[in-house]
Amino acid sequence: MINTVKKLWEFSKYQHKTFIITLIMSLVHAFIGVTQLIAIMLVIDVIINGTPTATAIRNIIILTIVCALGSFITSFFEQSGSVAVGFYMTADKRIGLGNFLKILPLGFFSDNSSGKIVATLTTTLSGIETGAAMAMITTVSGIFSALAMFITVCFYELKVGVITGVGMVIYLLTVDFQMRLSRKNAPFLQKAQSALAAATLTFVQGIKVTKTFSVKEGNVQLNEAIKDSEEANISLTNKSMPSQFLSRLVIAIFEMLIIVSTLWMYKEGSLALFKTIILIIFSFMAYVSLNQAGSILSMMGLLDSGLKEVGEVEATQTMRQSDNPKPMGNNDIELNEVTFSYGDNEVLHKVSATIKENSLTAIIGPSGSGKTTLCELIPRFHDINRGSIKIGGVDIRDVNYDELMKRISMVFQRVYLFEDSIYNNIAFGKPGAGIEEVRRAARAANIDEFIEALPDGYNTVLDEGGSSLSGGEKQRISIARAILKDAPIIIMDEATAALDAENEHEIIAAIEALTKNKTVIMIAHRIKSIKNADHIIAIKDGRVVQDGSPKELAGKEGLYRDFLRSREEISGWTINN
Ligand code: ADP
Ligand code: MG
Repeated sequence: MINTVKKLWEFSKYQHKTFIITLIMSLVHAFIGVTQLIAIMLVIDVIINGTPTATAIRNIIILTIVCALGSFITSFFEQSGSVAVGFYMTADKRIGLGNFLKILPLGFFSDNSSGKIVATLTTTLSGIETGAAMAMITTVSGIFSALAMFITVCFYELKVGVITGVGMVIYLLTVDFQMRLSRKNAPFLQKAQSALAAATLTFVQGIKVTKTFSVKEGNVQLNEAIKDSEEANISLTNKSMPSQFLSRLVIAIFEMLIIVSTLWMYKEGSLALFKTIILIIFSFMAYVSLNQAGSILSMMGLLDSGLKEVGEVEATQTMRQSDNPKPMGNNDIELNEVTFSYGDNEVLHKVSATIKENSLTAIIGPSGSGKTTLCELIPRFHDINRGSIKIGGVDIRDVNYDELMKRISMVFQRVYLFEDSIYNNIAFGKPGAGIEEVRRAARAANIDEFIEALPDGYNTVLDEGGSSLSGGEKQRISIARAILKDAPIIIMDEATAALDAENEHEIIAAIEALTKNKTVIMIAHRIKSIKNADHIIAIKDGRVVQDGSPKELAGKEGLYRDFLRSREEISGWTINN
């Protein structure tokens, strides 16, 4: 319990002020509730014990009105405060996690399915969003009211106070038991819910495959996830049933004991009628408040496992960020005995190469040789195991990550466009860029005319992934994005590989606009770009097998010559280009 509260306190760190104000409000609210009861007691006292005087009636009316107003105002702040704390702290957390995910190595995203990450950021955080602050505040105010009632009971008649107190302690023990149970079982439910979210996402993403293979009985994985989630829900409820029943029973038994004992004392003559009524009402109210806190407390297990799941994401090893980052010099890139593994699978072995500023370097090699991996190491998508990568003479691990990102633009074979306007998709390269700047970039990328011809022009909203555009159109939008960013280092991974001949020349022109006067690394397949390169790095099985200018390498037997030969055979007509 204390642990969960601690975690929650840490979780809501930017909302502590509102949290405390809301807590105070809920305490005042609870206090007013007790005062209100006392006002009712005064009414009963006046009715039973004598003739009501005008002053007494006036005082009682004033007290009641003040209480009612106070109760209304404090409960308003209590409610709105707990909702605000819940929403704001989760919003803070989501933004924080978003920034955090940005500096995680790509490996995290292949180890954890996107479904799981989505589930944590949505389902799990939503549970905390609506439940956590409310639970804390209800628990605190419930326990506080119960204590206040209990003290009042003790004040009037210690014996009844003792019975009430013993009942409260036993009740809390059953709640504690319930909390333990839910803490033990909640993670299963949490897991099942995350798996369900993940399976749903996978199902939707793969809907085309599902359709074409006409899977009749639906997606097996999804069906299983639905079943697991259903079972986990039922099992959690079933397991908590007996202890919930037990805590109700405890309250019922002690309420009965209190009625019997007070009535007995009344009959014996040791308790006046007024006191008897007060004791019964206050001890009952103490249990009502306690039960209000208790029923929420048993939910803590679920909250706890949600907080833990979020904590697990946050505990992921981020890429090392230097405490005192160094400024990079020029744009020379130096790879020094770079070794990198995916898990246990070493895919790059002691790769060394030097890439000069403002030169065009082509990386060639068979599929699976490690070209993409090598390119992804430069912007630190993954961190290397051994060796070093330097830009402008500084190890990229000693550079401020944002600065590193500003230096590099990447153009991939598989373009990703956001479900947003074309304008925003291009302006992503330079947040805050005006329409003129965006248009200039689009013109340079040979895509301006196409965009203008669309009914909504630059405001046309694309489908997720840009599926309504052709491969070439998408690629040119992504090149416009990179042109706008205007980073000095450009890395291109087979940017033209999947395109048809028809718009290839437009893309080539776009690429030329992007790469003019830049330091360019290009995983290339076109003979022309390879021959135009200043520098060729040939990779095979994760090792550099040839390194030099196209002229030098053309004179030697080896991967480069083989590569040219096979390319020329495939596209015979380009030989003399
Ligand atoms: P290329 O771009 O030259 O085709 P890659 O760099 O994509 O080669 O792949 C190099 C090797 O690393 C391959 O054996 C591939 O299976 C493996 N590999 C690539 N990406 C991953 C990944 N995310 N996780 C595990 N292994 C990977
Ligand atoms: Mg590749």
